[in-house]
Amino acid sequence: MTELVVCSGKGGTGKTSVVASMAALARDFVMADCDVDAANLHLVLTPQKQETTPFIAGHIAHIREEDCTGCGECHSLCQFSSIDRIDDEVNGPTFRVDPVACEGCGVCVHFCPVDAIDFPDSQCGEWSFSQTRFGPLVHAELGVGAENSGKLVSLVREQARLAAQRSGADLILIDGPPGIGCPVTAALTGADLTLLVTEPSLSGLHDLQRVLDLADHFGVPPLVCINKFDLSPPLSLQIEESCRERGVPVVGRIPYEPLVNDAQIAGLSLVEFAPDSEAAQSITAVWRQVEHQVAGLAVNGKNDDKH
Ligand code: SF4
Ligand code: SF4
Repeated sequence: MTELVVCSGKGGTGKTSVVASMAALARDFVMADCDVDAANLHLVLTPQKQETTPFIAGHIAHIREEDCTGCGECHSLCQFSSIDRIDDEVNGPTFRVDPVACEGCGVCVHFCPVDAIDFPDSQCGEWSFSQTRFGPLVHAELGVGAENSGKLVSLVREQARLAAQRSGADLILIDGPPGIGCPVTAALTGADLTLLVTEPSLSGLHDLQRVLDLADHFGVPPLVCINKFDLSPPLSLQIEESCRERGVPVVGRIPYEPLVNDAQIAGLSLVEFAPDSEAAQSITAVWRQVEHQVAGLAVNGKNDDKH
């Protein structure tokens, strides 16, 4: 099976609306929403959840007040200032772990002289397997303030691969996270192809270069499409020129389309909501090119450098 990751060097490029339209056009595939910090593909796909599983990552310290002697050792040792000291003139100080600040290092648990600190698993979010009108979707939500988004992205991809194996799907269409941080690394590692959605702005150009460097680093062949290209034709040309210099194919230019917002409000992708619009036609043309590349990978074998 082929894993196609749609990424953008930054948020706000319209990546997810492009992915939603591609989902409407693709056949025989599984979707994975790996934008776990701000998942919004579900707004258009209206998934019916079939199974939800907690995402456990690491541990969190919890002081049992009834067993704590108030020695303050844990408070002194915590390198993350995650243990609050609450002074009480009558009863002396008490200590409490701030669950949001606790990094789960376990130092306090190890050094507490009376073994008064529990260290249970930490639930950082949840992931779900759902059905949509286009096919299966694996998606996830990270808890408020929770980190570990890279781990959750890897988990979502792994579950999407299992779902594809079960259904015999040939393609996994991944809505990747924006930026170039840990979640993007987790989304790109071991993928077969990436489509980078950019926009014609100086920051768009800069961020595209950074995500192209990342794709190069992980040996994932990139394709580029320029969304809202008509907002700045000169910068769109500059993006095309820089892609040409790097030998990166630009597979399409999509015009700005205000109906994208109306489509989202209606819970539809643009190619469903306004199939005759120029933007929907352009996305369809981009998808045909991407499909062609995916078929080429299937025939010619995948790039083993990435593994
Ligand atoms: S080290 Fe243990 S006994 Fe001392 S304050 Fe912390 S939890 Fe209480
Ligand atoms: S587990 Fe580590 S980070 Fe959390 S409260 Fe204990 S010492 Fe601090």
